[in-house]
Amino acid sequence: MGNVRAGSPATGCGGFSMDAVELLQRLIRFDTTNPPGNELGCQQFIRGLLEGAGLTVGFHAATPDRPNLLARLPGRGEAPPVLWYGHVDVVTTAQQTWTVPPFEGRLQDGMVWGRGALDMKGGVAMMLTAILRAAAAGFRPPGDLVLALVCDEETGGEKGAQFLADTHPGLFAGIRYAVGEFGGCTTMVGGQRFYPIQVAEKQMCGLRATVRGPAGHASIPAPGGTMARLGRFLQRIDARALPVHVTPVARRMLGTMAATIGGLPGLLLRQVLRPATTDLVLRLLGARGRDLFPLLRHTAVPTLLQGGLKYNVIPSEATVVLDGRILPGFAPADLLAEVRAVTGDLADLEVIRFQPGPPATDLAWFPTLAGILRELDPTGTPVPLMLSGATDARFLARLGIQTYGFLPMRLPPDFAFARVIHAADERIPVEALAFGVEALSRLLRHGPPR
Ligand SMILES: [Zn+2]
Repeated sequence: MGNVRAGSPATGCGGFSMDAVELLQRLIRFDTTNPPGNELGCQQFIRGLLEGAGLTVGFHAATPDRPNLLARLPGRGEAPPVLWYGHVDVVTTAQQTWTVPPFEGRLQDGMVWGRGALDMKGGVAMMLTAILRAAAAGFRPPGDLVLALVCDEETGGEKGAQFLADTHPGLFAGIRYAVGEFGGCTTMVGGQRFYPIQVAEKQMCGLRATVRGPAGHASIPAPGGTMARLGRFLQRIDARALPVHVTPVARRMLGTMAATIGGLPGLLLRQVLRPATTDLVLRLLGARGRDLFPLLRHTAVPTLLQGGLKYNVIPSEATVVLDGRILPGFAPADLLAEVRAVTGDLADLEVIRFQPGPPATDLAWFPTLAGILRELDPTGTPVPLMLSGATDARFLARLGIQTYGFLPMRLPPDFAFARVIHAADERIPVEALAFGVEALSRLLRHGPPR
């Protein structure tokens, strides 16, 4: 666990006296529910802390009430700059039943409760505590540390990371490596403690399928027309999974897990990496298998349907939008070809939205991050992680920056991360917060790979 505890005040000459717990409580009290976000007050509060510690801080905003914060902790000039980034907006608490007020920031039962405790004001509090302590102690990292705290992550990042990457690329000059969400939290698999560090994510690739048939008066049935073809199209998409592709990240992630778990369960997990047995094993793995399914193939899931203009007219056309997700290293043409192979000539397919990820995963910094986690928890196993969803990392990837999801939290075995994040009674153990502060403080001493 190391010697820095979240509950202890910072030491050092600069006089930063707020601990990570108190800082997180203060952050939670700003209601930054997005939409609408309202991140200004929270960002001004953070700006005050950073400027008080002597850091240079700038606001860069698409709209004045929703600034993104950029700060720089000067380094010794011995290494290129690195980026730490996070978001200060949170998801809604609407239609959720909380047992504590979600924006009170209550400290209870050894945990800080409230919206954003995990996603990701907890992570922001860890980063800020590590940086403010370093600044207070006069510590300089090998290279500059750039901190970016953005708005608008939870609804897509248009005014946050996307805005910064599109309009202020110069702020990130020279940066090749970053840490952000999502990763570094304890995950129990097969009785073993793992620390997945996100290094890759799937690429968003929306498709539109247009189904056509003869129009006519609806008083005269026309079997096999637009609606019938639409039904067959949807059934085929539902019934047939796209082919398995084992990417290098998936191979390393699942291979390491299988070797660590060992025995028969480890042997079983390893068979997931053989396309001939993938689907059989995924079924045997139950809920865990459903989580792994999208990491081993492209997906295309129908989400929007449009067709017909009038009650008594058989439509000549109907469209389905599919939320498509492509594995890293592949392109939209790969997804189109695979969906066509499943649906034949039932529909015309086109790409309507593609947000490319990085061309390849750069794992050069992984050993450093994994080493820090092993120091702090020698019996846990860090593994690289691919995320089925998308994060702000995709915008920074356009600037050539490789993100590592690294907000370390050692969580007790009964702490169900997936059921707490974005849910009612979101909370974070104080010990997990301390673990993260210590891990990030150690990371400050390392420069990026050269
Ligand atoms: Zn988040």
